[in-house]
Amino acid sequence: MTGRPQTPPHAHGPAPYAAADANSRGRQFPEERPSYRSEFQRDRDRIIHSAAFRRLEYKTQVFVNHEGDLFRTRLTHSIEVAQIGRSIARALCLNEDLTEAIALAHDLGHTPFGHAGQDALNACMKEFGGFEHNLQSLRVVDQLEARYAEFPGLNLSFETREGILKHCSLADARRLGPVAERFLTKQQPTLEAQLTNLADEIAYNNHDVDDGLRAGLIHIDALREIRLFNDQYEEVRRRHPDLVDRRRIHETIRRMINRLVVDLVETSQANIAAAAPTDVDAVRAQAAPLIGFSDETRAANLELKRFLRTELYRHYRVHRMTAKAQRVIQELFTAFMDDPRLLPPEHQDYTRKLESEQGLPGRARAVADYIAGMTDRYAIAENRRIFDPATTS
Ligand code: MG
Repeated sequence: MTGRPQTPPHAHGPAPYAAADANSRGRQFPEERPSYRSEFQRDRDRIIHSAAFRRLEYKTQVFVNHEGDLFRTRLTHSIEVAQIGRSIARALCLNEDLTEAIALAHDLGHTPFGHAGQDALNACMKEFGGFEHNLQSLRVVDQLEARYAEFPGLNLSFETREGILKHCSLADARRLGPVAERFLTKQQPTLEAQLTNLADEIAYNNHDVDDGLRAGLIHIDALREIRLFNDQYEEVRRRHPDLVDRRRIHETIRRMINRLVVDLVETSQANIAAAAPTDVDAVRAQAAPLIGFSDETRAANLELKRFLRTELYRHYRVHRMTAKAQRVIQELFTAFMDDPRLLPPEHQDYTRKLESEQGLPGRARAVADYIAGMTDRYAIAENRRIFDPATTS
């Protein structure tokens, strides 16, 4: 990170308001302490060893996985969020391990085909409680990863689970219990959860600019209307007039990320200093998050987000892909709902189990779990296996 040199108030150790093993609310199923790791390191390690984490490699956000090898996938996105998040956490003397765990897990519940897939599955699940990727990420780590002998899911620490659950409706919060309590009591999550949320935003806005330019879906001339981009672009042109385009773009994006991170760190430091929380409970009791951008940077960031929404996410080529993806998901959902015997045996058993407990909504939830777990290419192949008579099942 470049910028003004900082002298954090707790340069020689974690801040008293940082999350720590000692102030953690613990795990749902009590376990012995790890021998050589912190509790949050253990969380991170369990996330990395999960099947859902490996599948992130073949899931996308804006572009479909087979469009090109250089585009971000959810795996590289999650790693970028972890990198940005850890830099911020370290600068603020917060818990880097917790930040990393939340960052690596935050997208585990995403469907294939990014937001298009989520919208399609949510529409399919409309009568059965809906589908929301944040809730699904929590469901993955709490229930769906069946890997450990002594507990269901990954049995992660409260603070990691709380950080994964970024948003939640009041109805869902009532159903979910302690992990969602803050939505009912209007409390804040840990500073680590707050910063990871914004690290996510910094990562995707910037890599979508990069991927969008590479794909030829957005253009430099249009981006130069956007302050956040243009300020850095002009600076790079002034300092390095002879750079080739690709390198100039990368240098511009690097500087955009840096500007956002520096602003976030400095604004948050000031917020923390003003609120002077003495511990994590004091952080939770704040009326608003303490981690945030300055007003000016928030406005500039919003301008970039709006630009990406209209120019990239609604581009007709992205929309064609989106429409195809929605059809793939909708067809799969209808087929499995109408005839669960089309499911692979272990998912049939799981579907029968949920259906015997909850009736038809249970069947729908099991089908949604199966579809949400698919990678882009698996969903396409499965759709072909079910609907194309010439494809072997
Ligand atoms: Mg994300």
